[in-house]
Amino acid sequence: GRKLLMIPGPIEFEPAVLRAMGEVTTSHVAPNFIESFGNALDLMQRLWLAPNGQPFIIAGSGTLAMDMAACNLVEEGENALVISTGYFGWRYRDILEAYGGNVTVLQAPIGETVPLEDIENELKNKQYKVVTMTHVDTSTGVFVDPQPIAALAQKHNALSILDGVCATIGEETKQEEWGIDVVLTGSQKAVGVPPGLALLVVSQKAMDTWRNRKTQVRSYYSDWKYWLPIMEAYQNRKPSYFGTPAVNLVRALEVSLEIINKEGIENRVASHKKYADAFRKAMSSIGLSIIPTSDGIAANTLSAVYYPEDVNGGDFLKYMKEYGVIVAGGLHPDIKTKYFRVGHMGTIHKGDVVTTISAIEYSLNKSGYKFENGKALATFQNEI
Ligand code: PMP
Repeated sequence: GRKLLMIPGPIEFEPAVLRAMGEVTTSHVAPNFIESFGNALDLMQRLWLAPNGQPFIIAGSGTLAMDMAACNLVEEGENALVISTGYFGWRYRDILEAYGGNVTVLQAPIGETVPLEDIENELKNKQYKVVTMTHVDTSTGVFVDPQPIAALAQKHNALSILDGVCATIGEETKQEEWGIDVVLTGSQKAVGVPPGLALLVVSQKAMDTWRNRKTQVRSYYSDWKYWLPIMEAYQNRKPSYFGTPAVNLVRALEVSLEIINKEGIENRVASHKKYADAFRKAMSSIGLSIIPTSDGIAANTLSAVYYPEDVNGGDFLKYMKEYGVIVAGGLHPDIKTKYFRVGHMGTIHKGDVVTTISAIEYSLNKSGYKFENGKALATFQNEI
């Protein structure tokens, strides 16, 4: 039967976006499609707040976007600094190493961030080519403020790469003003489009760095030399071909970005924050705690919530499903069975969050946890 999908991506999508997915597929060089592709690229520059950035829309998942930034910007033997708040920091380490990068990881303890002082010390220590950070680590729900880190990278002559897969559109991102060189994401989260698109906006400085490489890019599909002319052509409303674009997904992206643009990116981010705050107050009102150790580093886009003692995670998730709501289990290997994750991103509907909180209360009850019934729901309703 129909279930409410409240995981940190894919999310519940807008009917208009899903309808675009179901439209008759046109040629990738049909005039209407050229317009849609160009418009989607223009909208990315606008919503990323990077009017001079180079947008890329490529068929693939968020990991492809990470891959592209890594292999185009880092040459073999160059130093890369990974600021890791969990699972997706380790993925960036692996990707950079696959391309011969010499990677240093600054690892935050679970639920915390890396102190700026440590980052600055490391940047003074060696000349780094890139610094990567995860805007929201999906395994912990920890939010990293990219602005001061991008500023440090700039000061020490390194490029900054922001993995925004679980954040972009849901967390404030002023790419150009903050001097972030790459902001990358996937389609299936706060961007609000079914899985399958890798999205990046790259600063002109980073594009120049890429142009001045001494060695060949060690990937075929990810090499910007094939994709840059394509993106430029579509933005100039001209046909072009390298690899067939995901026609229906690109149309769906155009529709979703139009909806977000109409609402206004600031309003969209504010709405994510409002729901996140209210959701977490609801959880704490019944004695549950979240992984991030302070409010300031708790994400807008998802919450990672510890089970109360004696609640079995497998049972809890089974009861949630029985109620019709899908949330995610743990992802961080050290605490995998100790917490669950709820995504609250996209065009969030109040009723969906109410249903989710109701399901959580039901499942906690069924799992034998004692608390005041209805308290989380009442807290949420008072906050929202
Ligand atoms: N980075 C982050 C922060 C993510 O949350 C994810 C997906 N959960 C990825 C990268 C990888 O994206 P994908 O699964 O689309 O390849």
